[in-house]
Amino acid sequence: MAAEVTCSFCGRNKKDVDLMISGIHAHICDKCVTQASQILQEEKKNKVEAGTLPNFKLIKPREIKKFLDEYVIGQDEAKRVMSVAVYNHYKRLTQRKMDNDVMIEKSNIIMVGETGTGKTYLARTLAKILQVPFCIADATVLTEAGYVGEDVESILTRLLQAADYNTEAAERGIVYIDEIDKIARKSDNPSITRDVSGEGVQQALLKLLEGTAVNVPPQGGRKHPDQKMITVNTENILFICGGAFEGISRLIGRRLNTRPLGFATSSDSVHPGGDLDKDNLLKFVSAQDLKTFGLIPELIGRLPVLSFLNPLDHETLRKILTEPKNALVKQYKKLFEMETIELEFKEGALDFIVEKAVDFKLGARGLRSICEAIINDAMFELPSDKTTDRLVINRAYAEEKFNKSHYSKLKVA
Ligand code: ADP
Repeated sequence: MAAEVTCSFCGRNKKDVDLMISGIHAHICDKCVTQASQILQEEKKNKVEAGTLPNFKLIKPREIKKFLDEYVIGQDEAKRVMSVAVYNHYKRLTQRKMDNDVMIEKSNIIMVGETGTGKTYLARTLAKILQVPFCIADATVLTEAGYVGEDVESILTRLLQAADYNTEAAERGIVYIDEIDKIARKSDNPSITRDVSGEGVQQALLKLLEGTAVNVPPQGGRKHPDQKMITVNTENILFICGGAFEGISRLIGRRLNTRPLGFATSSDSVHPGGDLDKDNLLKFVSAQDLKTFGLIPELIGRLPVLSFLNPLDHETLRKILTEPKNALVKQYKKLFEMETIELEFKEGALDFIVEKAVDFKLGARGLRSICEAIINDAMFELPSDKTTDRLVINRAYAEEKFNKSHYSKLKVA
């Protein structure tokens, strides 16, 4: 007679339980599985309380960079700097609260680079790889408390929303603060007029960046006395700030003792070729330049990792159109494929799109709008047209559609 099947953990007989799972040499009943799962949950909770993070995969800088490479073209220097900063930041998170012999400090980041060069995109891609809540805040809408505009705490409202109001998750998130250059100090003498949207905001941001418990209005807006607040500790939130810092090349140039850009003629320029100078100079950006630009030293001190993004040249823009995992061309092809239409962009059309993007000086941001202008007619007509199964966009087609669109009337920057 076959031996009776019993749970190897509690000894219950198979007929007394709902389900018996068999292993190689043992069995476990549903009741024991449930109980074991509860023990696991409990253990995980205890670990969090003890200061370690369960299920937290620490990704090495090289891997972070490799992932970023799949989406973000070029900007090698910025990617390397950010990969290391983020790695260290999360290493800091996994540091047990108890061993407080060496406290690793936060590595908030500041990125300098022209508009549309991928600052936001880099930060967003980073958040994706780390699988942490991410939000974008615009520094221009922030004002000092009590003035028209948003309090700096509203930034954390967004992060909470991104984390589905899971405070613990939000407290490990990434915040990207865009246009940080727009809150630069307006004048050297702050006492002349109150600088509510400049230095005042910088002051207000300090405590957020540093790491403190902040009372956040869950729905955003202004704080008012009878509103229920959520306390968010910003100690482990990574802040990445970005800005175009227009004119900073000139400051760098001055510091480096080269000729100020724009005033040099091609014959007496130290570095011939205007744009090339600018590329080179941004590489040398330092905390001192940010201070001269109008950021207060305390704020700069709380953004210890400084990096720059190169302006996007013709070749890079061309790659951005076709190479990244979710490149625009791939996206359009996919959209048409869903209508069972094969879409092909000819080289000439791609060149045309890039030329226009360079003209508009919008960086990679311009590519999308230009593509839309070219392809919109087809996207409107073809879904109802059952006879077409292929669309080829060549230079002539691109030019014709673009010239018909309102973009062609825009003034070139
Ligand atoms: P900004 O520097 O002004 O923050 P964004 O990051 O918003 O610029 O860039 C706008 C868009 O351009 C992004 O959403 C992305 O699709 C594209 N883009 C910009 N730079 C790159 C890049 N280096 N590689 C790939 N795509 C890029």
